[in-house]
This record gives sequence, C-alpha cells and structure tokens, in this order.
Amino acid sequence: MIEKEKESDKASSGLPEMPNLPPMPLSANMSNEASTAIDYPEGHRAGFVNIVGSPNVGKSTLMNKLVGENISIINKKAQTTRHRIMGIVNQPDWQIVYSDTPGVLDPAYKLQEGMMKFVKTALQDADILILVTDVYEYGIAHEATFEKIAKMEIPVFILINKVDLEGQDVAMERAEYWKRRMPNAHVAPISALHNFNVDTLLESIVEKLPLAAPFFPKDELTDKPMRFFVSEIVREKILTHYKQEIPYSCEVVVEEFIDEPTIFKIRAEIRVARESQKYIVVGAGGRMIKRVGTDSRKELESFLGKKVFLDLYVRVDKDWRNDEGKLKRFGYFD
Ligand code: GDP
Ligand code: MG
Repeated sequence: MIEKEKESDKASSGLPEMPNLPPMPLSANMSNEASTAIDYPEGHRAGFVNIVGSPNVGKSTLMNKLVGENISIINKKAQTTRHRIMGIVNQPDWQIVYSDTPGVLDPAYKLQEGMMKFVKTALQDADILILVTDVYEYGIAHEATFEKIAKMEIPVFILINKVDLEGQDVAMERAEYWKRRMPNAHVAPISALHNFNVDTLLESIVEKLPLAAPFFPKDELTDKPMRFFVSEIVREKILTHYKQEIPYSCEVVVEEFIDEPTIFKIRAEIRVARESQKYIVVGAGGRMIKRVGTDSRKELESFLGKKVFLDLYVRVDKDWRNDEGKLKRFGYFD
C-alpha cells in the first residue's frame, strides 16, 4: 500500500492528448459461466484488461488509479509485485477486471519463474492488453514477451508513462518509436502518478470491452482474500525498511487471522532464505522488526478499519525462493 498521494490530480498541460481511436475487432475469449446468477442489463460489456510491462515503469500505480483503490503495492524498488492481482471496477452497464502483474524479466531463480507465469497467463486471457512502458525505455525488459504482444489480435494499448518527467518532445519521439514497433497498437502518453490521460484511457477501454455478462458479483473489488492484503502490506513495509537483496529474500505468511468484534488478531511470519538475513531483518535488539511491525499495524488498521494486534515473527525457511513445493504453498505455482 502507498501513502495517500499528496500530488494534485490535475493533468499537466501541453502534452499530446490521447488520440480518438478507431474501433477494433472485439474478442470474448473468456468463459463466462460464473455470471449466471448476476443480474445485468442488455448490452452489458465486460472483460479482462491485463497490465504488463518492465519492472518499475508504473504498472501498479496505473492499476490503482484505474481501480480507485490502493490494492496493488507500489514501491521505488523493482519487483514489488509478485502475484497477479485483480482489481474490479463496476458500473451498471460494464465491468472491467484489471490484472496487475509482476514486471517482465529473464527469470534468475524459481520465484521469478513463477512470477513470469502470471505474466504468461495474463497474455493468454486478456480481452484488452495494456503494455506500460516509460519515457526512458527502448523496448522492454523481456523482448520475447514483446514479440508475443506484437502478434496479438486483441486491442493493445502501449502507454508511455511518467511523461511528467520529460518534455513533450521526448513523449512524441517515444510514441513514434512504439508506433513503428507495433502499428496496430493504441499508443498514448500518460502519467499514472499525476492522473494525466488516465480518464481518457478509461473511456477508450470501455469502448473496446466485449459484450459479455459480468464475471464477478458487482460489489466485489478484488478476487484476493483479506489475508493476501495483510501479507502484501507487511511486504511493502519490508521493501521500505531494508536495503539491497533483503526484500527479495522475504516472503510473508499470515499464519493466523482472527476477526473479533473490536480487533483483528493477526500472526504473520516473515520467511527469509538464510540465517544471516534473519539477523538483518530482526535488527539489533529487535529494533528493525519492531519498526516494520508498527508501520504495518498502522496501515492494517486503516485498511481494515479496526484495531489490529499484529504478532510478527522472523523464521528461516531455507532457500524458499528455489523450492517449488514452498513456492506452490505461497501461491506462485499451480
Ligand atoms: P511497477 O513495478 O511497474 O508496478 O511500478 P510501480 O507502480 O510500483 O511504480 C514504480 C515507481 O515509479 C514508484 O516510485 C512510482 O511512484 C513511480 N511512478 C509511477 N508512475 C509514475 C508517473 O507517472 N510519474 C512519475 N514521476 N513516477 C511514477
Ligand atoms: Mg508493480
């Protein structure tokens, strides 16, 4: 979770507007079985809009802006998002199921292989694909993924993010580059952080949604259980408080989640890969882990809207990042 944004939500001026885009053939390649019980009007549109791209380009920031809630964790460090996280936006006559995914990369260890699987699935089940890049990128961090995207027949948006950091010339030059690489794509500059062009993007997405029944009940915000968000909040605090490889060696497992009338009692374990990492995470006299615990508890209380008692442990789970059985249990492989 991130701090509430203090920046103004007003779009910066002087940048090219999102072009009015020609209609594209629509595809409904998802089964729609779950929706028989949900009421919906005739002409209802629904679809999976999947967000992919290199690490750190702003995918999660964009997803949260589109969903209007902070459901995906955002951090300056790369590889913050490990799972595929869905965010659902509902209107009476449409439903968008967004998926945020981990950044594309060449996997160096098993955990990253699992992360790339979420990306692969996201390419397969998308009705609309959003490729996020930023003003600094030429190509993406995993070109084989781009080659796949370039061949896709569904509507593809290539969004050049962080245009607030560069002038209009750079944005235009980047747009031309991507247009050359994928002529069928809808290319547009955005600033997810400052909400520039995000509303226009939403309108273009809705226009391209296939005719379909809703996939989820209309009051659902996400497919993920509460425990998932608890572990994500703790993980975000770890990303904030530790340097270098430590955050990438930690997994947070919620062992207990008890909902009592006035308080949530939560027991969570931070699993590290090695003994030496445990010392760093705990810190001298337990100072570091205390900080992580306090920050997490505060954020959990605001997220859950109730008092939280958080019991946080650190445990060595030897080499968990390369252990397929453990990764399965943590939800990275089927
Ligand atoms: P992800 O790894 O692609 O999901 O990227 P994140 O959404 O976690 O963002 C990575 C970093 O880029 C964070 O520090 C964001 O605040 C920052 N960021 C995202 N969008 C923008 C933007 O439009 N402008 C600027 N200046 N920074 C951004
Ligand atoms: Mg992310």
